[in-house]
Amino acid sequence: LEWCVSVPKVELHAHLNGSVRNSTLFELARVLGDKGVIVFSDVENVIMKDDRTLHEVFKLFDLIHILTTDHSTVTRITKEVIEDFAAENVVYLELRTTPKRNDSIGMSKRSYMDAVMEGLRAVSSVDVDYSPAGLKTNTFNGSTRKKMYVRFLLSIDRRESTEAAMETVKLALEMRDLGVVGIDLSGNPIVGNWSTFLPALKFAKEKGLYITLHCGEVPNQEEIKAMIDFFPHRIGHACCFDEENWRKLKSAKIPVEICLTSNIRTETISSIDIHHFVDLYKAKHPLVLCTDDSGVFSTSLSREYNLASSSFGLGKTEMFQLAEIAINFIFADDGVKADLRATFKEAVKKLN
Ligand code: 5GP
Repeated sequence: LEWCVSVPKVELHAHLNGSVRNSTLFELARVLGDKGVIVFSDVENVIMKDDRTLHEVFKLFDLIHILTTDHSTVTRITKEVIEDFAAENVVYLELRTTPKRNDSIGMSKRSYMDAVMEGLRAVSSVDVDYSPAGLKTNTFNGSTRKKMYVRFLLSIDRRESTEAAMETVKLALEMRDLGVVGIDLSGNPIVGNWSTFLPALKFAKEKGLYITLHCGEVPNQEEIKAMIDFFPHRIGHACCFDEENWRKLKSAKIPVEICLTSNIRTETISSIDIHHFVDLYKAKHPLVLCTDDSGVFSTSLSREYNLASSSFGLGKTEMFQLAEIAINFIFADDGVKADLRATFKEAVKKLN
C-alpha cells in the first residue's frame, strides 16, 4: 500500500458527499442530534454499516445530505476532501458534486457551488491550481510546496427534471473560469429516464463542456445503448452490459472510470475475480481506477490501486503505467497534461 500511496495519481470519479470523512459525519450528526433534528444512534448505525446494496447507498446519501447541506458545511467538507486526496499524492483531481437548491436555508445551486469554491480556496496543505482560464490565485508561483490540480464536474441527479438539469448546465457554463469543466449524470440508476436529461446533456456538449455518465450500474440495455450512442467523453462503472453493448463500448473506445470497491460493496459485481476490469485491461481499452465514494466505501485511491494490483496480479511497472495513462482521459488542456507527464517522469526516477 505504501508504494501505491507514493505513486502520483489522477482521480477522475469522486463524489464530494461520498468522500466525506466518517469522523466529520459523526461530528455533524452529534451536533444535529443535540439539536433534536436527527436521532444520533440511528445515524451511527447507518454510517457504520459496511456492506450496502446500491439501493441502500442512495438512502445513505439522503442522510448524508441532511448532515452536510448548509453553506459552511459544504465549504468544510470540500476543503477536507481535497486535502485528503492531496495527502495520498493525487496530483490531479476532478471532484464532482450535485449543486443543490434548498429554499428554506436560502441555498441556490449557485450559492452551493460558491460554498464549494470557498472550500477549495481554504485548502492549505497544498498549492491548488483550479483555473483552466489562467486566473492564477492560490497557484504554484515557483513554490516548492506540493501542488495539485483540481477541476469540478457538476452532477445532474437522476431525480431532477429537464429544467433543473438545464439549470445545472447553465451554472457550469457560468463557472468555467472557476474550474468547472464538465457535467456528470448520477443518482439512483433505477430512477428517471434518459430522455429527461438528454436535452441538457446535448446542450452542454454543444457548448463544449465535457460529459461523463454513470452507465450500466443496472442492466438497462436500452439506456446503455442510448448513452453510448450519445458518445460521452467518459463513462463510469460499465458493470451490466450485454454482449452487444460491450462490443459497442469497445469499438467507441470511450474511457471507463472503474470503481472496484464500490462495485463489490454495492454488489453490482458479485466478486472481484470476475470484474470487467480484466477484460478492458487486456483489450487495452482506455480505463482509469477511481474511488467513487471514498468515505461511504471506506477506501482511498491508493487502496484501489493496491486492490487492482493484488487481485489482477499487476506489478509495479504496470501499476505505474496505469496511473500515468489516466492523464490521457482528464478533462483539462494540453498544458495541464504536459505538466502532469513531467510530474510522473520525475516520480519514476524517485521510485526506482
Ligand atoms: P454529491 O453530488 O451530493 O456531492 O455526492 C453524492 C451523490 O453522488 C449521491 O447523492 C448520488 O447522486 C451520487 N452518487 C454517489 N455515488 C454514486 C454511485 O455509486 N452511483 C450513482 N449512480 N450515483 C452516485
